[in-house]
This record gives sequence, C-alpha cells and structure tokens, in this order.
Amino acid sequence: MTDPTPEPIKLDCPTCSETIVWSEDYPYRPFCSERCKMIDLGEWASEGHKIPGEPVILDENDQPL
Ligand SMILES: [Zn+2]
Repeated sequence: MTDPTPEPIKLDCPTCSETIVWSEDYPYRPFCSERCKMIDLGEWASEGHKIPGEPVILDENDQPL
C-alpha cells in the first residue's frame, strides 16, 4: 500500500502569503508570481528592511494605589 504520487510541497509566498505549490506551475517559487519576487528583491535592494514600526506603549491603566 504505497502512494506513488508524493504529497505536493505547499508553502506561502513570502511577499503576499499566498499559498502555492512547489511545482513547475510556479516558476517564481517560493514566490507566487514574478511581481512578488520583484517586490521582495526591491525591498532588499532599497531600504526595505527597516523596522516597520515600534509598538507604542501607552500608560492608560495607571491606577494609583
Ligand atoms: Zn505573492
């Protein structure tokens, strides 16, 4: 009882998180499309890896004892 067809490898596009299958259907894998690949490369080439935004901590719940 062996399955001749291997399970397709699924992964998420790093750019848009679209689920793709690791096959010839996606020549730009791990990206879903050329567009997402270019977006990712463009971000690395420019200043794409900045800190997206620091969390702002607000002291709204300062209850005096
Ligand atoms: Zn994508």
